[in-house]
Amino acid sequence: MDLLIVGSGFFGLTIAERAASAGRKVTVIDRRTHIGGNAYSENEPETGIEVHRYGAHLFHTSNPAVWQYVNRFTTFTDYVHRVYTNHKGVVYPLPINLGTINQFFAAAYSPEQARALIQAQAGEFDAKDAANLEEKGIALIGRPLYEAFIRDYTAKQWQTDPKNLPAEVISRLPVRYTYDNRYFNDTWEGLPTDGYTAWIERMADHPNIDVKLDTDFFDETQPLHKTATVGQLPIVYTGPIDRYFDDAEGALSWRTLDFEEEVVPVGDFQGTPVMNYADADVPYTRIHEFRHFHPERADRYPSDKSVIMREYSRFATREDEPYYPVNTAEDRAGLLAYRELAKGERDVLFGGRLGTYQYLDMHMAIGSALSMWNNQLADQTGS
Ligand code: FAD
Ligand code: UDP
Repeated sequence: MDLLIVGSGFFGLTIAERAASAGRKVTVIDRRTHIGGNAYSENEPETGIEVHRYGAHLFHTSNPAVWQYVNRFTTFTDYVHRVYTNHKGVVYPLPINLGTINQFFAAAYSPEQARALIQAQAGEFDAKDAANLEEKGIALIGRPLYEAFIRDYTAKQWQTDPKNLPAEVISRLPVRYTYDNRYFNDTWEGLPTDGYTAWIERMADHPNIDVKLDTDFFDETQPLHKTATVGQLPIVYTGPIDRYFDDAEGALSWRTLDFEEEVVPVGDFQGTPVMNYADADVPYTRIHEFRHFHPERADRYPSDKSVIMREYSRFATREDEPYYPVNTAEDRAGLLAYRELAKGERDVLFGGRLGTYQYLDMHMAIGSALSMWNNQLADQTGS
């Protein structure tokens, strides 16, 4: 074995695939019972509808190298992501655009009129100097729209007062003065034609790649555990960085999600893939309806049943799956301390969402794995 990879998500699998193609013998371990990390999907048995096990995953990128790379393993459908939100029993388009503004104010503003209105309502704060998510939200869209669509949704999602959240969280959500309601701005977007798991399996399908599931790096009863391997060969670790160091600098905080899946006896439950619920009195943040991610499969999916998933958000305990880094000031200080520790760890590279404590979309995880391979591993791990 030339390289040990801990974690079979997109980061670990990209490194594994590159290394195997370069002739290196690679072992990938994962503590779960399947490969693919959070992008894993499987067909719900009663309906055959593909369900993304760890929450809806939409692929999008503007990075040509990543787009070219992923197309080696799968083709993509022409799916374009659009999201709606329910506020006080009325449905509005997201991200906030001219359609949302005109519906909310029951008006027919032109782009210029809408800009002037929002500018007048947003005057309390300047987007450039916004110190937290609330100030940034108000600076971007004004207080009335902020309070309707952002404040309570964000508080539900983060269980943290938006005044204590970093302003960057909301920068992911654009505001548009046109009727364009595409959720993402990227050049390429789509869903893997035959599903995420088929894509993931093709990445791992190489004679030089050995995958061991149900294998925890910290389990001393299995031969590839941390103390038996560190310093013996190059390792790419994509698990949580704090866990690697046994929380020596304190546990970093994460948000986890609970998913409540239901097969409903109707062919179409909500007419769209994702409906957000903006108000505080609805306990879930959104409902996913998976059949709508693949309209091209309509003739294969039942016409009298559908699969929906309600998503609830809360702080993660040690036993939960960590999904989103909370990234408080304390977490950022802890992360810097862990990065220092990581530098001293011989032959271990830390990567991916958990290994770097960063929110990474799939294309970012794949892009950063390609860079790690090219810059730090390609010339080093020789057999
Ligand atoms: P992961 O997929 O988390 O893989 C890490 C792997 O390491 C896991 O399989 C885990 O079991 C394993 N592991 C951890 N610790 C150990 C250990 N001790 N021993 C052995 N194995 C271990 N991206 C998008 O582009 N679009 C989306 O719409 C999107 N939606 C998302 C929704 C949710 C709810 C979440 C959580 C993420 C979403 N993402 C989305 C991000 C996407 O999932 C990540 O970019 C991608 O999973 C990153 O891959 P990774 O390899 O870094 O991490
Ligand atoms: N957001 C919101 N209302 C919405 C959708 C998003 O306030 O209806 C805010 C919220 O703070 C969220 C951020 O925008 O954390 C980013 O939204 P995105 O849809 O990217 O969140 P994700 O899908 O990553 O959970």
